[in-house]
Amino acid sequence: MTHPRPVRVRFAPSPTGHLHVGGARTAIFNWLFAKSHDGSFILRIEDTDQQRSTRESEAMVLDDLRWLDLHWDEGPEAGGIHGPYRQSERMEIYGGMARELLQSGRAYHCFCDEEMLERKRKESEEAKQPPHYDLTCWKLGPEERRQKAEAGDKSVVRFHVPKEAGASFDGDVHIDDLIRGEIVWKKESLGDFILLRSDGMPTYNFSVVVDDHLMEISHVIRAEEHLTNTHRQVLIYRAMNWPVPEFAHVSLILGEDRTKLSKRHGATSVSQYAEDGFLPAAMLNYLALLGWSPPDGKEIFTATEAIAHFSLDRVNAAPAVFDAQKLLWMNGQYLRQMPSSTLRRQISRELEMADLVTGGGAAAEEWLDEAVDLVQKGADKMSQLRPALMFLFHFDAAAAVTDPEISPLIADSDTRIVIDALHRDLSERGGPVTAEEYQALAERVKIASGAQGKKLFMPIRVAVTGSLHGPELARTFPLLEKGSRTPGIARVLSPLERVEAFRAALG
Ligand code: GLU
Repeated sequence: MTHPRPVRVRFAPSPTGHLHVGGARTAIFNWLFAKSHDGSFILRIEDTDQQRSTRESEAMVLDDLRWLDLHWDEGPEAGGIHGPYRQSERMEIYGGMARELLQSGRAYHCFCDEEMLERKRKESEEAKQPPHYDLTCWKLGPEERRQKAEAGDKSVVRFHVPKEAGASFDGDVHIDDLIRGEIVWKKESLGDFILLRSDGMPTYNFSVVVDDHLMEISHVIRAEEHLTNTHRQVLIYRAMNWPVPEFAHVSLILGEDRTKLSKRHGATSVSQYAEDGFLPAAMLNYLALLGWSPPDGKEIFTATEAIAHFSLDRVNAAPAVFDAQKLLWMNGQYLRQMPSSTLRRQISRELEMADLVTGGGAAAEEWLDEAVDLVQKGADKMSQLRPALMFLFHFDAAAAVTDPEISPLIADSDTRIVIDALHRDLSERGGPVTAEEYQALAERVKIASGAQGKKLFMPIRVAVTGSLHGPELARTFPLLEKGSRTPGIARVLSPLERVEAFRAALG
């Protein structure tokens, strides 16, 4: 039995682009695990790849995490006692640890150059041998290595894998993965590997172990693709006499064609979804379901509910399939539940940019809330809201009468009778401002024109909206009528003005 350690987990992105949905899912699992254990969630930036890492990317990744409403207890900006939290600022620490391993004889300087190593790799491949380092520099012995180093020969620091079983080591490497069960790397498959490159930069395997240890990480929850590295990391922990954390390797995310999710499958970065009008709570919910499900089988849940139910036992070892349609459906569920005033506030900038809000004010906000409420039922994502509102502001009668979809309706002589009756009623009585008033209007037009059902409602709809499709007329009419008198928004034509324009276009 190992002593239970305080739960401390980390998400360790390499800042080389936007946050990928797979990375976001890993971050979410770590965060849920930390929160469900009263533990700490640490953010560490793995930016030792100087060619590919950028501060811009780091800022974007942080923004994407914040957008998802994931908060880290320690990390860049948040600070913490185990910092710095950027690997590029921890170089001296890795250098010091490498010296310890050199001194204890668990690592050595290796002077073989890339060209020679490549040639040897090829030779072992041809001889069908595992492509391990052939131990040339290990065999030189400490004295000869010291002389080469003193002569200024370029070297890397290489970890030496003990070949003999010892008290704490049976030669193989085992882990008991919390998602995948026992995993064993046989001793034949282990070869000496690099800790520090010739420019002093640590390799991923080295920096990750040093940091996970110093940051007191209890559980390493990360992508399955890192399983190819885990045995090397375990060997370093052992050589340093450090406690080995628990590991949980989360399965891959596949596209619908069952190949690894990539750009070919569509949007893969969190920011693309944010820009496309997805809601963070829906995104978090959907990503949490990629490989995990709560015991009650519910598909829609809040972050608090997910925290209450999260456990690694229920994380699936099989790959998860990213289903963009389901994400859209889920987003629609969230969007339709949201108060229209919240949505209106979220798109307010967009409305201003489109000159739909001209002065604002309480009356304008109230009217816009009603307008958003009318269209949100038919929307799956935020980006559909503004386009869905446009019919209130733009009415192009000439385009409507020549629209091929609408032409058959116009060709029907009864249509004109309905439109004329509608026009008369609106001119005489004014436009309806409540649903009841609209119902009464429709009833009068029905009697006056003799039309009913579709033959009544389609002409009415087309004459005021310019389209065969749209939200309920009983709400649309009052909204247009009120909009035509509301200050602070772009000009809205009243139902009467619309019918007049439509009749004019019909000629
Ligand atoms: N920096 C690694 C990555 O972005 C994460 C490594 C780890 O979690 O151990 O894939």
